Amino acid sequence: MHRGLVTRRQAMLAAAAAATIIALVLLGAGRAAAQDTAAEEAAHRAAVLARLPPDAAQRVFGLETAPAPGPALAIGSYERGCLEGAVALPADGPNWQVMRPSRNRAWGHPALIALIEKLAAEIPSAAGWPGFLIGDIAQPRGGPMLTGHGSHQIGLDVDIWLRPMPNGRLSAIERDEMSSIDLVAADGQHVDPRRWNASYLAMYRAVAADPEVARIFVNPAIKRQLCREAGTDRAWLAKIRPWWGHKTHFHMRIVCPAGDPECHDQAPPPAGDGCGKELAWWFTPQALHPPPAHVKPLLLNNLPRACRAVADAPATAMARRGLP
Ligand SMILES: [Zn+2]
Repeated sequence: MHRGLVTRRQAMLAAAAAATIIALVLLGAGRAAAQDTAAEEAAHRAAVLARLPPDAAQRVFGLETAPAPGPALAIGSYERGCLEGAVALPADGPNWQVMRPSRNRAWGHPALIALIEKLAAEIPSAAGWPGFLIGDIAQPRGGPMLTGHGSHQIGLDVDIWLRPMPNGRLSAIERDEMSSIDLVAADGQHVDPRRWNASYLAMYRAVAADPEVARIFVNPAIKRQLCREAGTDRAWLAKIRPWWGHKTHFHMRIVCPAGDPECHDQAPPPAGDGCGKELAWWFTPQALHPPPAHVKPLLLNNLPRACRAVADAPATAMARRGLP
């Protein structure tokens, strides 16, 4: 069909349908939730492994335990790709602690790891938080995961908890078992006023202001609240993208690092604060209650060709010990 013949309404419906399909892909990745404890996560992994074909990309990349040596390269797109030369975010920093350490998902492109460390250092003055609790980043070689996440495949995505880092150090068991804070009311329409406070606006604004940050995925109720509270400085709201879930964490996605030829950026978010019609769609019954769907898992052949070499590369002795 000629592009000019597509009405605005048709375009909006198509966008909504595409968003629904993507959400269903995410749901189809497994029932796992960002907050699952170590035991719940292990049970989900076992169930997924039992039903996946041998050449499923989730199986191949989900069982990798060490990064592929080589220069840092984000290969492919956020939801279909892999990562070479990953580095680990240390479990502890002055302003961060890595959560769910038993998952071994604190690997990322060095550009993302550096940005997490920089933003964590800034968050005490920006929002009054002692620091960040860091959720899943990527697997040692990126790729699709056995549980949770449609994206997080090329080391440029990170989940950050909506619970400020406590002042003390958490034990390994606490990091694998404790919960974040759910900011969204039960009906999904608004934030929970007992939990929401002004520090969240300051935190989201500080993260969105960084030029490397491409998008921040948040629950629609949180976007709605940020739209209400933002005042006249609203340009940063363009990067705040409503999406399903994201009640207990936010997802920060950065742009492809310079000089990374195989990394595919997403188109920039539409201009404007995104607080109007686009946001309203997220509160329709269709968006609040998407139908369940079964989605075929990605096979190794569905990823960029270079990902096969990334999967096959022998780990160095250093990498096997988890050292950079
Ligand atoms: Zn995420």
